[in-house]
Amino acid sequence: MYEHDVIVVGAGGAGLRAAIAAHEEGADVAIVSKLHPVRSHTGAAEGGINAALREGDSWEDHAYDTMKGSDYLADAPAAETLCKDSPKETIKLEHWGMAFSRDDDGRVSQRPFGGLSFPRTTYAGAETGHQLLHTMYEQLVKRGIKVYDEWHVTRLAVSDEEKPEDRTCHGIVAYDVQTGQVEGFRARNGVILATGGLGQVYDHTTNAVANTGDGVAMAYRAGAPMEDMEFIQFHPTTLPSTGVLITEGVRGEGGILYNENGERFMFEYGYANNLGELASRDVVSRAELTEVNEGRGIEDEYVHLDMRHLGEERIIDRLENIVHLSEDFEGVNPLDAPMPVKPGQHYAMGGIETDENGETCISGLYAAGECACASVHGGNRLGGNALPELIVFGKRAGHHAAGKDMEEAKITTGKEGEYELGEVDSPVELGEAGIGEDAVADGGTAADAGASVSGADLVQRAVEDERETIDTLLEREDGIQQAEIRERVQKSMTRNVNVFREESALKDALRDIREARELYQQVFVGDKSRTFNTDLLQTLEMRNILDIAEAITLGALARNEFRGAHWRKEYQERRDEEWLKHTMLSWNDGRPELWYKPVILEGENKTYEPKTRSY
Ligand SMILES: Cc1cc2nc3c(=O)[nH]c(=O)nc-3n(C[C@H](O)[C@H](O)[C@H](O)COP(=O)(O)OP(=O)(O)OC[C@H]3O[C@@H](n4cnc5c(N)ncnc54)[C@H](O)[C@@H]3O)c2cc1C
Repeated sequence: MYEHDVIVVGAGGAGLRAAIAAHEEGADVAIVSKLHPVRSHTGAAEGGINAALREGDSWEDHAYDTMKGSDYLADAPAAETLCKDSPKETIKLEHWGMAFSRDDDGRVSQRPFGGLSFPRTTYAGAETGHQLLHTMYEQLVKRGIKVYDEWHVTRLAVSDEEKPEDRTCHGIVAYDVQTGQVEGFRARNGVILATGGLGQVYDHTTNAVANTGDGVAMAYRAGAPMEDMEFIQFHPTTLPSTGVLITEGVRGEGGILYNENGERFMFEYGYANNLGELASRDVVSRAELTEVNEGRGIEDEYVHLDMRHLGEERIIDRLENIVHLSEDFEGVNPLDAPMPVKPGQHYAMGGIETDENGETCISGLYAAGECACASVHGGNRLGGNALPELIVFGKRAGHHAAGKDMEEAKITTGKEGEYELGEVDSPVELGEAGIGEDAVADGGTAADAGASVSGADLVQRAVEDERETIDTLLEREDGIQQAEIRERVQKSMTRNVNVFREESALKDALRDIREARELYQQVFVGDKSRTFNTDLLQTLEMRNILDIAEAITLGALARNEFRGAHWRKEYQERRDEEWLKHTMLSWNDGRPELWYKPVILEGENKTYEPKTRSY
């Protein structure tokens, strides 16, 4: 068994920042990651980092834009923390050597992004995430922080008290991809989950194949609630054949969207009369699909994004990698022709419920980055607000886990304080099929433990459970392979739980997920080897995809309103009197329990009064 003060799971932007912060506090910190740090998906981020750096801008304006962008479902203490801390953290990256793009006078450049009232997006060409990841990785190497890369974390070692609020996280269990060994990692102080996105729940996504929502699902099964899972961001400009992203920076620099008739539809059809292409992502995604659905799309599938008028010099200076992406994946040179684009799954606004210090309701368990929901994005994330989230909340979680004295959180977690229970009209039984009967299907919390069991013993028990699960999977000689189950779920999610949602389709998705759960009881791994067994790893990930898909769909069915990215055919209005609240889902011995907690609109100096959102 390995042992450290703080264990960070995941080596993307959030994980690296958390590890550096814990190290700054003097902790013995280690990162455990299924990918090498610089292969993490943060490297794919193109557009930039929002930070109020200039005269004429302020963190208060950034917070206002964020609350408005969220459609008033972000929690103000978290949104304000993001906007207050982002300038300092962004400049810290610059001091660490991040190669930001600069203006002629030497200042870090800033460009406009959707939904922002000031051009406050800092960037490094169209490779902001790549630069950010490498800059922080250098800091990690400089400090000698230990990285266990190509270790796939499969389970949390959490004590078994009845109420999640009484539980403690003592460590993790991980599978060594190179050798096939299953080992325990004990965390003396805390575990920080920084496992990133969950885009693989859909079949058209900008996310990497590694983004299977592992951290969210593991934390859920250990007792930390999932928050606002129905809020999935669909990015309006992805390449139709692959889902590869064309950054919002293209529209920020002046790129224009056209339909089949050559009309600039954002203005022509009144989708966003002021900001046009720079309206927020939910607005532009719906506009594009409406064009397609009303017969003005190209090949009944996509629209055009044109940047030719920006001129070659500016394009190469600021957006060079877009030229390569479009050429390589779509065969279109955007210097000569407009690019085909359509909406694709891009970002999960929901995730593991945390407070603004990154802590969950389970003692010693933290989350940061895209897998977490401190609730800064609410119903819709503004472009350029995820990267600051990594550095701001990664740092806070790292400090807190390492024992720094933090200000008491204003956001409560778990079933503490005010909450109401919810009900949803599901056509099928939700949650686990046959839990407890089959080790393969049981991904619950750690082995049972009484008060007398030490942290190390608890981790060891969790290791033994996991070894049994993996042996069972590898011993099975036939059954169904995970790829077939995965394809069914992904296709159903894209068909039924997409930009436009309606009750009957959501129920169809729940039926499909249920069927996939039954099939998962007979899942088997064809590859019996112990080294680099991707078949086995994807089978373990599939377990997470099932829980995540169900949570997204269930939340979408429960939320009877139209807010942010969540459009419902039957409910075409935001219903503030009933829905200024977060959807929460708790694992209750395998049966998802739905409950709600109120959104916090009171900020430091003001209350963010919900207004109609127009751009
Ligand atoms: C194409 C694209 C472009 C984007 N552009 C922007 C942008 O310009 N500006 C912006 O603000 N946001 C942008 N975003 C969003 C933003 O980049 C992401 O939200 C953010 O990078 C996620 O960082 P993370 O650290 O949370 O996760 P990631 O960078 O995805 O890292 C997750 C880490 O967790 C590890 N991991 C996962 N599961 C396990 C497991 N079971 N065991 C061990 N390790 C595990 C992985 O190996 C990885 O190291 C973009 C997103 C995409 C997809």
